[in-house]
Amino acid sequence: MRSPKGISRGLLAIGGSIAVIGCGPLTVTEERHLGDQFAYQMRSELPLVYDRTIVEYISEMGEGIVRASGPQPFRYRFYVVRDGDINAFAGPAGHIYVHTETILRARNASELAGVLAHEVAHVQERHIAENYNRARNARIGTDILTLGASAFGGGVVGSATAMGSGLAATTWLNSFGREAELEADVFAVRVMARAGWNPRGLLSFFESLMREGGPNVPAFLSSHPATEDRIQATRVEIEALDGTRRLATYDGGKLEIIQRRIRLLTGSHC
Ligand SMILES: [Zn+2]
Repeated sequence: MRSPKGISRGLLAIGGSIAVIGCGPLTVTEERHLGDQFAYQMRSELPLVYDRTIVEYISEMGEGIVRASGPQPFRYRFYVVRDGDINAFAGPAGHIYVHTETILRARNASELAGVLAHEVAHVQERHIAENYNRARNARIGTDILTLGASAFGGGVVGSATAMGSGLAATTWLNSFGREAELEADVFAVRVMARAGWNPRGLLSFFESLMREGGPNVPAFLSSHPATEDRIQATRVEIEALDGTRRLATYDGGKLEIIQRRIRLLTGSHC
């Protein structure tokens, strides 16, 4: 997905770390530190939703997917962002953010589970770490470099220069190519099935986003381009699975309760 509005300072701040930790691949430990710094900054930059019922719903769904993914080097955290754009994105080390509009536009729980599984895939497949490395080695993300510097050199609080950099960093961290998207889709399909979700939800969410067209392309599609060949590859992957029709598409009305709660909270009538 595209990062939320206002983009380019963040990567620079996150990027400060680049100079500190050299040019080798980001280690799991380094990614954890970077994730802590990232989450700290995002708390001050984003209008996060703290309604316990809503956050617990997303966290339980996300944690179910993470458990189905097998052993993890990271402790995942799920956040809800009050935002009218359809979007979701991953930070380093399993900090996953979902916009309220994404929850409102999901037609069933399996579509939302598909979005979460796709984001978890980008973390688990180390795509976020690879994007960080790419930005660092090309020295293109001053924000990312700064965030890194504070993460590795100054603890979680970080320096004044790092503050305000998280949003910008998401642009670099969440710019995925075709190969990474295909990999994330395959991962998501398999993990959704293991977690009990019908993986067709992943497809139907992307298909409904693509049908929207027009000048207002959902932010999610900017960073996760959903091409026809990618959708076809995902369909083939799903058809190779046995018994998907027994998997859950709905969650007994829980999603609808959460959607009503979000509408009350945000005043949205959609
Ligand atoms: Zn993606």
